[in-house]
Amino acid sequence: MPHPDPEELSLLALYEDWEDGDSREHLRVCPECAADFAALRRTVDAVRTTPDARLLEAPGPQVWAGIHCELGLSEAVQEDPLSGLEGQQAAERESLAEPVQLQGRTVSRPEQRRGATGPAARRAAAWWQRPGPWMAAAAAAVLVTAGAVWSLNQAPRPLAEADLAPLAQYSAAGSAKVVESADGARALEVRLSKDEAQGYQEVWLIASDLSRLVSLGVMNSDSGTFQLPAGLELSDYPIVDVSDEPVDGNPAHSSVSIARGTLNT
Ligand SMILES: [Zn+2]
Repeated sequence: MPHPDPEELSLLALYEDWEDGDSREHLRVCPECAADFAALRRTVDAVRTTPDARLLEAPGPQVWAGIHCELGLSEAVQEDPLSGLEGQQAAERESLAEPVQLQGRTVSRPEQRRGATGPAARRAAAWWQRPGPWMAAAAAAVLVTAGAVWSLNQAPRPLAEADLAPLAQYSAAGSAKVVESADGARALEVRLSKDEAQGYQEVWLIASDLSRLVSLGVMNSDSGTFQLPAGLELSDYPIVDVSDEPVDGNPAHSSVSIARGTLNT
C-alpha cells in the first residue's frame, strides 16, 4: 500500500485505538513511516500529559503580545486574555485566607488548607488550567509536526544551486536549482526578480570555459522549470545563463546575457 498521508499518521499517533489495520501494518514494514510515526508519538507524549495546574504560573503579558504579533491578529484582541487573572487569583487567595467567624469561633476554610481547589477557584480556572485545551494543543502540535515531517520528506532536495546575478545593462537577479524527482529525472528551476528581455528569455547551461552550451528552453515569465537531458554531467556545464533572444529564427545564443550564475556542483 502507499505511505499513509500525514493526517492519517497523526490520527494513529494521537489515538492508540484508532482503527486502521492497513496503516498499522504498513508501520511495521516501512521504516520511513515508522520513523515519522515515532516522531509524532514523542510529540503526543510531550504535550498530552496534563500539567498540574497548581504548578503553573500565569503567563506574563509579553507571551500574549508575542502570540498576537506572530499571528498578525487584529487590534480587537490585542489585550492579553489572561490580564486581570492575576488580580482575580490574588483576590481569591485573600478571600480564602480570611478566617470565617462561626458561632463565635474562628475557623479557617477547608479549601484554604487544600490550596486553590474550592468551587470559586474551579470556576475561575483559566484555559491553561483545564485539560481540554491541552488535548487540543497536543493535537495541534502533532499536526504541525506532521506537516513539517511531510514537507521535509516531499520537498525534492536540490542537487545543485546557483545565485543568478545581473550582467551589465540589466538588474534582474535570482536563483537556480537542480532538483531530482523520485524517478531520477532532473530539472532546473529558475527564478528571476523580473523579465527584462527585449525579445524573449532563453535558459542555457554553459561549460566553464564557455566553449559548449546546451539550450534548456524558453522562459516567458520570471520563473520556469526545465528538464535536463539524461546523461548530462552538471560539472561539465555548471554555468546557468538566461539570455535575451531576438525572435529571428537563429537558434544560437544571442551573446546577450541578462543574468548568470555557477552551480555549486
Ligand atoms: Zn511508508
